[in-house]
Amino acid sequence: MDDRDTALLRAHEHAAAWLDSLATRPVPPRATVADVVAALGTDLPDGPTSAADVVDLLATACGPGLTAMPSGRFYGMVIGGSHPAALAADWLTSAWDQNSALRTVTPAHTAVEDVTSAWLLDLLGLPPSGAVGFVTGATTANFTCLAAARGEVLRRAGWDVRRDGLTGAPRVRVLVGAERHESVDLALSYLGLGAPEVVAADDQGRISVAALEEALTDQGSTSADHGSTSADRGPALRDQGSPSRPTIVVLQAGNVHSGAFDPFGAAVEVAHRHGAWVHVDGAFGLFAAASPTHRGLVAGYEGADSWATDAHKTLNVPYDCGLAIVADPAPLRAAMGMHGDYLIQSDTGDPFEKVPELSRRGRAFAVWAVLRALGRSGVADLVDGFCRHATTFAAGMRALDGAVVLNDVVFTQVCATFGDDARTREVVRRVLDDGTAWMSGSRWHDRAVLRVSVSSWATTDADVRASLDALARASAV
Ligand SMILES: *Cc1c(COP(=O)(O)O)cnc(C)c1O
Repeated sequence: MDDRDTALLRAHEHAAAWLDSLATRPVPPRATVADVVAALGTDLPDGPTSAADVVDLLATACGPGLTAMPSGRFYGMVIGGSHPAALAADWLTSAWDQNSALRTVTPAHTAVEDVTSAWLLDLLGLPPSGAVGFVTGATTANFTCLAAARGEVLRRAGWDVRRDGLTGAPRVRVLVGAERHESVDLALSYLGLGAPEVVAADDQGRISVAALEEALTDQGSTSADHGSTSADRGPALRDQGSPSRPTIVVLQAGNVHSGAFDPFGAAVEVAHRHGAWVHVDGAFGLFAAASPTHRGLVAGYEGADSWATDAHKTLNVPYDCGLAIVADPAPLRAAMGMHGDYLIQSDTGDPFEKVPELSRRGRAFAVWAVLRALGRSGVADLVDGFCRHATTFAAGMRALDGAVVLNDVVFTQVCATFGDDARTREVVRRVLDDGTAWMSGSRWHDRAVLRVSVSSWATTDADVRASLDALARASAV
């Protein structure tokens, strides 16, 4: 065997050992950053080392510093596991090393991307003519969709943002719910749109449609307007009963604390009546649409203009993979497309015209693999399983002394307190020390909470039982 074969074989052995260890190893890491740095060594070697030895050193030094995120007992943030089909496809993606920007140069990836895009639009109940960009995550998906939105609302107001930039442009109003994910604000900042206008939300974090309507009816403060209003320029918008200002409304499918979904039907109707572009951030919640049992949560969301989601959360594809979906491909291409004389571009449009990157890995391979492995019913079962486990968690927590579940458990998230903030924080600390499961602490509605997010295919009933037992030990203070 040559060094390449040995290195790949070793990598496979280390990966298999890691995956096998997940059933029994503590979920939190055992080593600190400093421990891992010490194990790696900090001196850049003067000369070469064999690839196989490098793989061994990397695996040995990093092992103790790895967090068992793909375990069935990791419920922190919203992480998602890696389905075996997606993980294996991801290995192939690296071996194949396709720069998947151009249709004619990498036909295999383009074919897989085309098929996968159609499957996703079908599963999610979104317009079949929509465009799907395979990006790094939901933050970038939000950015990509909002870039299309920004270009389009300004175009309708007679302004070409790609040619003329934002200086002197009509000011774009962006309205968001009080409990949108912070990555929406970050995406807006990348786009030079500044901080959004915040619309009130209810006790579960859902945007108030009455407050949205009120905000849209009130034309908003124009004091910050740095250009002319679009009233004289926007025939297309005015024809649909439009506002005098280009407007974007951002809704949410899946609140990170409560799992709640915005009331899409009413919110989309109000926003469109006022001529706004409607974007939905559904990083982990969009896949509710793939389950006949949970589809009602997103009712009416198909009327929006764009949707961001992650494949690396609910769909259990390895990092990093997000999906930017836009109903009308034209504004997406207008925002993300470009021409390069040395590129071999296709008349029908190239994959890179749907994403911010030019060079990028073949992300669609892993998404195709998990969808092909699970099938329509398997994706629904995956989502329903997460929700069922979340319900079991909530019931188990309610039975614990002093525990209060704060949210209506409609999806995959559970938020609980265990008394005052100090005691809740102590319970979070103790459960992490115990090592059986990872649950994160957070703040919601100005209280310390313990958060559980179920989002891995690997989670079993036994994992949930063991994790609730750990929580019972941690809360018996
Ligand atoms: C996780 C999340 C994001 C950000 O997604 P990344 O993949 O981490 O970029 C955005 N919105 C919501 C609701 C999320 O849960």
